[in-house]
Amino acid sequence: MNQRDLIEQLLDGMDEIRPIALAARPDDLELRATTRDMIAALEDIKRAPAIPAPTYAWLCHLTSKLLDAEHGALLKPTADGLIPDTAQQALSQHIEQRQMLLMQALQDIPATHFLLDQSSEMIGNKANSDTPLQAKAKHLVQLLRDHLQHDTDLKNEIQQLIEAFNPSLSALSSLLEQAGEDSPELKQAQQILAQKLPDNIEDARALLESAHHSILQAGTKLVSASAKLTETIQVQVEKLSTLSSKLEQAESEARNDPLTGLANRRALAEYLKELGQKGFCFLVIDIDHFKNINDTHGHDVGDEILQQLAIILQTNIRNTDLASRIGGEEFCIIFAAASVDISLKLADKLRLSIETHTFKTQQGPLNITVSIGLAEHIVGQPSSHTFKAADKALYQSKRNGRNQVTIIPTA
Ligand code: GH3
Ligand code: MG
Ligand code: MG
Repeated sequence: MNQRDLIEQLLDGMDEIRPIALAARPDDLELRATTRDMIAALEDIKRAPAIPAPTYAWLCHLTSKLLDAEHGALLKPTADGLIPDTAQQALSQHIEQRQMLLMQALQDIPATHFLLDQSSEMIGNKANSDTPLQAKAKHLVQLLRDHLQHDTDLKNEIQQLIEAFNPSLSALSSLLEQAGEDSPELKQAQQILAQKLPDNIEDARALLESAHHSILQAGTKLVSASAKLTETIQVQVEKLSTLSSKLEQAESEARNDPLTGLANRRALAEYLKELGQKGFCFLVIDIDHFKNINDTHGHDVGDEILQQLAIILQTNIRNTDLASRIGGEEFCIIFAAASVDISLKLADKLRLSIETHTFKTQQGPLNITVSIGLAEHIVGQPSSHTFKAADKALYQSKRNGRNQVTIIPTA
């Protein structure tokens, strides 16, 4: 037992003995004084700053673990083995405080260790079992700091993610709306994510999880909606392409002669409009005695002749010219931007090549001739004038014996 404990024991003993002794000899004032002096002396020894060497050594041992370097330095014995006066007061104060702390800590130490270990373990890891209390406390504080920092970083990261994700959510939402899909889940997710995240990271996590769940549900819907949409689009595309080919056909039928494929009257009128105020020459071509061909070889042979003649016309004009079928066996050619002289030559060349061409029909080879009327279009006049003039010229060609080109001045 150390000296301090001995003093404590003595004091305790005195506490027990004194009332008994005083009770036995109530009138003995000396005994009363002696015992009081003994207690006082013991109290003095206990409190005395200049402690004898063994007590000093014990005190050093006890407090060295508790005091910091400064206070430890105070405890260093001087050459004469005493503690300096200036240090005594501070030292006694510190020792008193430390002893009180020590007493409290001694009572609470197991519980404190347990608490610190448990808390540390919940957040991260607990310190080694032989770690001093203060170091354990520091460890816990550090863990808490790291954890808080980590949570803050995490929250910031999540917040940034949400902000980056929000436009995609809106796009998703409008896509679903367009697909006619109601998406309450997505709206819910948007609402959740529009909120400020709760400070508590666990609450934030729960909130995000529910948003995540809603988005997944919406995603499933989107997949089926997009499949439906693709299907609908495919059907529409098919319908459209059928419609467009029908339209193309209708348009072609509206502008082309079905038997020969040449432009019809309507296309001719359009072309004349397109030419506008430009000069051109107008040819009207009529097959001579075509009725005879029909009557002799049949209507089908007549058709074959018409088709082959159309090819001859088409191959003998330039891209800017137009060949059209304007009646049964009547054709028309517009020589765009060609003078009368050149048009006359071209017309006669055409007449000759038809005359010399052998038409291959189901009834064998046949020859035909054509009569042509030519008129020059005068800029500023209606094209019907030109047409009439050409028709008149054609009539003359017929009257003059057919298989010839006649030109009639338009003006
Ligand atoms: P001309 O020399 O005076 O022109 O005598 P033509 O017999 O050619 O004249 P006409 O007007 O008397 O006869 C034209 C004939 O063309 C009458 C008609 O049966 C025929 N025809 C009109 N359209 C077609 C057609 O699409 N196919 C066939 N094969 N014949 C047609
Ligand atoms: Mg004819
Ligand atoms: Mg005719």
